[in-house]
Amino acid sequence: MTASQLIRQKKYSDIGIIEMADKHYYQPAFTLVGAGTYSWDNTSRSMASVMPREATWIKDKAVKLNPDNNTVVTEKSGEISYDYLVLSAGVVYDKSLVPGLEETWDKGVVCSNYTDPRHTWEVVKNFKGGTALFTQPTTPIKCGGAPQKALYMSESAFQKSGVRAKTTLVFATNGTVIFGIPEIKKTLMEVVDRKDIDLRFGHELVKIDAGNQIAWYRMSEHENNYNTKDGVEIEKDGELTGIHFDMLHTAPPCAAPDFIRNSSLASANKWLDVDLHTLQHNHYPNVFGVGDVADLPTAKTGAAIRKQVPIVVDNIDRLIRENQIGTGYYNGYSSCPLVTDYGKMVMAEFDYDNNFTPDPMLKYMLIRDSSKEHWRLWILKKYILPYLYWNKMMKGKNV
Ligand SMILES: Cc1cc2nc3c(=O)[nH]c(=O)nc-3n(C[C@H](O)[C@H](O)[C@H](O)COP(=O)(O)OP(=O)(O)OC[C@H]3O[C@@H](n4cnc5c(N)ncnc54)[C@H](O)[C@@H]3O)c2cc1C
Repeated sequence: MTASQLIRQKKYSDIGIIEMADKHYYQPAFTLVGAGTYSWDNTSRSMASVMPREATWIKDKAVKLNPDNNTVVTEKSGEISYDYLVLSAGVVYDKSLVPGLEETWDKGVVCSNYTDPRHTWEVVKNFKGGTALFTQPTTPIKCGGAPQKALYMSESAFQKSGVRAKTTLVFATNGTVIFGIPEIKKTLMEVVDRKDIDLRFGHELVKIDAGNQIAWYRMSEHENNYNTKDGVEIEKDGELTGIHFDMLHTAPPCAAPDFIRNSSLASANKWLDVDLHTLQHNHYPNVFGVGDVADLPTAKTGAAIRKQVPIVVDNIDRLIRENQIGTGYYNGYSSCPLVTDYGKMVMAEFDYDNNFTPDPMLKYMLIRDSSKEHWRLWILKKYILPYLYWNKMMKGKNV
């Protein structure tokens, strides 16, 4: 998106993109695949087809950054020099951070929309009842709302398949509330009540015992349970509390890729150290960051990237032309389209200060209050956003 905007809107041509993958995925649709309502094949396109034609694709893996010499070392293509560098390498999944995850990942009754939503749908479709546990690690994860979306959609799927009455749904998280934006929290608690979900806050996931189907947690000082159900089997082992599951959906622990994490460009938190508002690196003025890899106190989403990229593009353009960055200001905007049922969605849009900031364009879809469930928001999620992603965002057009 950044390269496309630099080419299309600012008319630059000397752009290289170091990208190692063959395919590009529209990950927001993974949630729908995991609910059996979107085709897996429609979530990806070949990388060649999304690369801007005017840019040079260096199909390689970046392995080291030398920001003092303005170079990136690659696995096969040697050392590549730059005048300006935009880092947008996303996250890597580090399952070793939760012992037991690696061995059980995407196998049997353990599933994740993050890595194989087709397996999630198989597990949900074939579920015969018991405890369906939805959880997440304590690291930052991309789209922090995605584990919750899997929870709500699975409940709806269980209604359809007739196993709901035999099922207890538990959502255990290290968080303190269901959502940090008051308007969204209100709606989601109504959804939780309607769907009769057992909520467990202040639960730090520490290990998975796949053999015995138990997820083990350490309680934080925020431990707080809501709508606790009797049928859930609880184990104790010293300070740890185990929740028995018959199905587990979780997100993988996330970290910045090693070549960024282990470089002088990393922050104390080991993510890319950029200014919160200009997205310029805090020590290297010709380096910028966008997307999940950046150390920004907002949700890691594609929606956030949509607002970040124009700031970075303008800053690079001004640096080249005027030797100073622009006045654009990223306010931490991010968005989480929370599907709550087949045909229903709530649109959480917010900034660094957790203000609810709905897009004024929603009124053209006759959506007056996007903090409430609406069928038109579902249409937006399932049909309009994928279209805008492939045809506008990726092509460098304004969205
Ligand atoms: C289940 C799920 C649901 C989601 N739902 C939503 C949603 O509803 N709305 C929303 O806005 N967002 C959602 N997201 C989040 C969204 O998909 C991400 O925030 C977004 O894709 C991040 O883009 P990125 O460019 O930062 O990273 P990525 O899309 O991960 O891209 C990083 C790229 O860098 C390449 N790369 C990495 N390391 C190297 C290297 N060393 N050398 C060369 N290339 C490298 C990778 O191959 C990859 O192509 C969801 C994500 C998931 C998993």
